[in-house]
Amino acid sequence: MSYPSPAQQKAVPSSEGFVDLRSDTVTRPSPAMLQAMTRAPVGDDVWGDDPTVNALQAAAAARAGKAAGLFFPSGTQSNLAALMAHCARGEEYIVGQRAHTYRMEGGGAAVLASIQPQPIENAPDGTLPLEQIAAEIKPDDAHFARSRLLALENTIEGKVLPAAYVAQAAAVARAAGLSLHLDGARAWNAAVAGQATLEAVCAPFDSVSLCFSKGLGTPAGSVLVGDEALIARAYRARKMLGGAMRQAGVLAAACLYALEHNVERLADDHANAARLGRGLGQVAEIRLEQVNTNMVIAHVPPDHCLGLADFLRSRGVLAAIGPRSRFVLHMDVSAEDVDRTVEAFKAYFAGR
Ligand SMILES: *Cc1c(COP(=O)(O)O)cnc(C)c1O
Repeated sequence: MSYPSPAQQKAVPSSEGFVDLRSDTVTRPSPAMLQAMTRAPVGDDVWGDDPTVNALQAAAAARAGKAAGLFFPSGTQSNLAALMAHCARGEEYIVGQRAHTYRMEGGGAAVLASIQPQPIENAPDGTLPLEQIAAEIKPDDAHFARSRLLALENTIEGKVLPAAYVAQAAAVARAAGLSLHLDGARAWNAAVAGQATLEAVCAPFDSVSLCFSKGLGTPAGSVLVGDEALIARAYRARKMLGGAMRQAGVLAAACLYALEHNVERLADDHANAARLGRGLGQVAEIRLEQVNTNMVIAHVPPDHCLGLADFLRSRGVLAAIGPRSRFVLHMDVSAEDVDRTVEAFKAYFAGR
């Protein structure tokens, strides 16, 4: 390939001051968030003593309409602990080929938990076709891994799963005795874009992993929510995976701050994605594929990828440019930054 991979492009000496469209994980904690972190009452969370962690777990569970929550350092670990809470060794979970839990988490379910993934192709809208789900649920027969769980992702590549679809998929899974997990790394984006509550987005699922380090803008942290029994099993898994932290209230305080201040404003990111989509739509060489919630996916002529990435960087814009490029909007990118980005695209192609 003649263009640098996103991982290679990530290696900048300092991204400070750039318009950074590589991901919504690149945000820096605001002064107010940092202040909340420094003032948080803390304790040893392994002893159950951290009041800020306990408050976050309760607040996240309440917002999601679940009985209990558990704080994790990362969404990857939260998803894996959830899979382990649902599935034993030799059991399987049905999941999309493009799902983060299957594709982007180092194969952890198989490697660390002996859980067999049964991937199926995502439809273009991110859903898993109902008849495919039904077809992959195995009968109780010693030849097969035991089907235990259906895992969905919302948003998926920025796309909001339709609520009616989720209800149907849940019905198919429930009818066969499967439980349901949602990778809700961006469930807040789904809620804000769909003008739904987080509780409504989470309602069909037994467990949901919620990320705070994406659009909500914290340095780290995810909360897994579910009923008490499921969270108790995930608690054991978290310990085994090395995710039990001590004075984690310092991080939980950032998440509590984000719950209060950074949820509604996701609408700004969605508006900025639409703005970027409109701008890139005016660049003849760029083919827009889709604009959904806080993501824009666009096709760049392969022989321009390297030159464009360098040119954008020289104009103060960091982007993971490939033939199929993903641009992600977040709280550290303003409407003016979007306009500056579009101008840089136009200048690059005008110069050829
Ligand atoms: C980011 C992300 C996760 C978890 O990622 P971490 O980097 O481990 O926090 C899980 N699922 C999706 C869809 C994500 O985007």
